[in-house]
Amino acid sequence: MAKPQREDYCSFCLRPRSAVDMLVTGREANICNDCLEQGLAILREEKERFQKESLETDLTWLKPSAIKSYLDDYIIGQDEAKTTLAVAVYNHYKRVMAPAVAQEEAVELEKSNVMLVGETGTGKTLIARTIARMLDVPFCIADATVLTEAGYVGEDVESVLTRLLQAADYQVEKAERGIVFIDEIDKIARKGDNPSLTRDVSGEGVQQGLLKLLEGSVIGVPPQGGRKHPEQKLIQVDTRNILFICGGAFEGIEHRIASRLSRQSIGFSAEERANPQTQNLLQFITPQDVKSFGLIPELVGRIPVVTHLNPLNAEALKRILTEPKNALIKQYQRLLSIDHKQLTIEPDVLDLIVEKAMEYKLGARGLRSLCEAIMKDVMYHAPDSEEKEFVVSLEFAKAQLAKSSFGSAA
Ligand code: ADP
Repeated sequence: MAKPQREDYCSFCLRPRSAVDMLVTGREANICNDCLEQGLAILREEKERFQKESLETDLTWLKPSAIKSYLDDYIIGQDEAKTTLAVAVYNHYKRVMAPAVAQEEAVELEKSNVMLVGETGTGKTLIARTIARMLDVPFCIADATVLTEAGYVGEDVESVLTRLLQAADYQVEKAERGIVFIDEIDKIARKGDNPSLTRDVSGEGVQQGLLKLLEGSVIGVPPQGGRKHPEQKLIQVDTRNILFICGGAFEGIEHRIASRLSRQSIGFSAEERANPQTQNLLQFITPQDVKSFGLIPELVGRIPVVTHLNPLNAEALKRILTEPKNALIKQYQRLLSIDHKQLTIEPDVLDLIVEKAMEYKLGARGLRSLCEAIMKDVMYHAPDSEEKEFVVSLEFAKAQLAKSSFGSAA
């Protein structure tokens, strides 16, 4: 006679199959629906705890003070911009990494894209690039002036995201946490103050396009950039967590700031007018000024953090030559040290470089070409030379500049 078969039971709560709704059977053990659900709940709780813990660790090294001090290693001056950006980035990544926390508190954390206003060559791109390097997120630079509305010669607004995808090796998830720097945003300002009269292709239309990206939506991106065409397969990219940093010189915006300030009857006394701090009107810039310059209100609304960069004076330029972690002079010294040579640049050579950069109105951008002109011969001869030490003196530097394109320009 066959032995009666024992009923299967849950290996966890030991209830038989007949006492539970469902029993999942394995080779050695079984589990009922209730125990399975409990197990899943524990897993979920653990995962959340882990996420919260790792969020806290991530946010520790991301604190605004930590970001600022990282930026200090590479960017001279511009304290206001560095501090503002550090706070914006901290809040942004809090929002990106803490959706669970945000939901719990039922407060929706809005994205804060950033606008950097300052003359060309004052470090706008450098700040954005340095932050991206610190965060180890994909980064790309897009030039607003090459973008046009669909149907016109130029690039579709979506091509901005193509670059980001390329920077992220086409890993969409990675790109969706990246940073995009949109340069020369002031060049797509609306010409004239009356919106209804001016529908300029390269201006307002592009702003409308950018608005779509900045406000956070899922965008179809052409993998190779350029223009979208109907047969092309598009990659869907969610821009909600992409941080957009926009930069522009906004030439002449000081007049708007001044007139707003005087309208607000703050005005300046003669004493204040003489104060160079007050003369730098950019420090008072607000989103309102950016709007009056010709950016559409919707776009300005999506870039709520506006900060400024100061023009670089001679002292700042000199510090840029020597102080940042990857300062130009340090780079030349490193290049020669690979050939086991020591490079000394006499202090008055630095003054000469700064003086020429100011003279040619090249700002920090000019420092590199001036250094190249001075260092070219040394870099050429050093590898073959028996000498172990190279000293660049003022006479030598002047002679090198005189025979370079700077000499012919003078
Ligand atoms: P912008 O984007 O404002 O036009 P960049 O950031 O491209 O200017 O600056 C051009 C170059 O000048 C940088 O690569 C960097 O070498 C140097 N530079 C500019 N401003 C600074 C700064 N504040 N500190 C250090 N280097 C700077």
